Amino acid sequence: MNEAALARLVALEGRTALVAGGSGGIGSATAALLARAGARVLTVDLPGGVVPEGCEGLTCDLSDPRAPSALFAEIQRRTDALDLLVHSAGITRDGVLWKLGDEDWSSVIEVNLGSAFRLLRGAAPLLRKRGGGSVVLISSINGERGKFGQANYAASKAGLIGLARSAARELGRFGVRVNVVAPGLVLTPMTAVLAEEHLRKAIDETALGRAAEPADVANAVLFLCSDLARHVTGQVLRVDGGQLMA
Ligand code: NAD
Repeated sequence: MNEAALARLVALEGRTALVAGGSGGIGSATAALLARAGARVLTVDLPGGVVPEGCEGLTCDLSDPRAPSALFAEIQRRTDALDLLVHSAGITRDGVLWKLGDEDWSSVIEVNLGSAFRLLRGAAPLLRKRGGGSVVLISSINGERGKFGQANYAASKAGLIGLARSAARELGRFGVRVNVVAPGLVLTPMTAVLAEEHLRKAIDETALGRAAEPADVANAVLFLCSDLARHVTGQVLRVDGGQLMA
């Protein structure tokens, strides 16, 4: 393979991406990177978020089950093609199991898992129509191992893995790949609120001895969106510096 062919494998020219949670730490790094790789990138986030460079920003509350119909109408008004979907919207409402309220449970499940289901359901016909594409759901290593004080969050993140693997089986014959990226600790607004001792503990758990930057996760998403990963589907790719190895 010559250099031009190699460069084409990672290039996303002619493809359109939707990045949910695209104003967040991981989402904005991912959206900007996909745009630099040549994709047309639409982001969706709550009103007031910063739209990453080179992207077009849409707004809606993804926890609202009615939101996707208006969102997809707007997407189809702007473009007749969707090739890539990245779900990076997420929240935490931490508390030990016996103190978690119904609202702590349902809000986390709706934003982290329900919205991924609804966006994937809405995107599936568009991806099928294109004859191929790539979906990446941002889970967490805590969805695999569980975490003290995060029963709601861990359940939502484990649910993303089941959702992705089922979708990978259903959409594979249409050329659509569906994968999960499971980060460990990433330095973003979500983790900026954590106490220093918690950050230190997580970093100490890693093999590499460092927390991830959003770009570390974005790089993995770009790989999964690109033709470099053309035979990769239904997988969970941990981007955690070796925090969880099993
Ligand atoms: P972040 O808070 O910077 O980004 C999350 C984004 O989701 C925000 O822009 C927020 O506005 C958006 N969002 C929240 N509720 C929404 C709603 N109802 N409708 C639309 N958008 C909404 O956090 P992040 O660290 O970039 O997290 C991105 C994803 O990565 C999340 O799913 C998170 O669970 C996951 N993750 C993060 C870490 C970490 O250490 N930061 C680790 C593992 C997994």
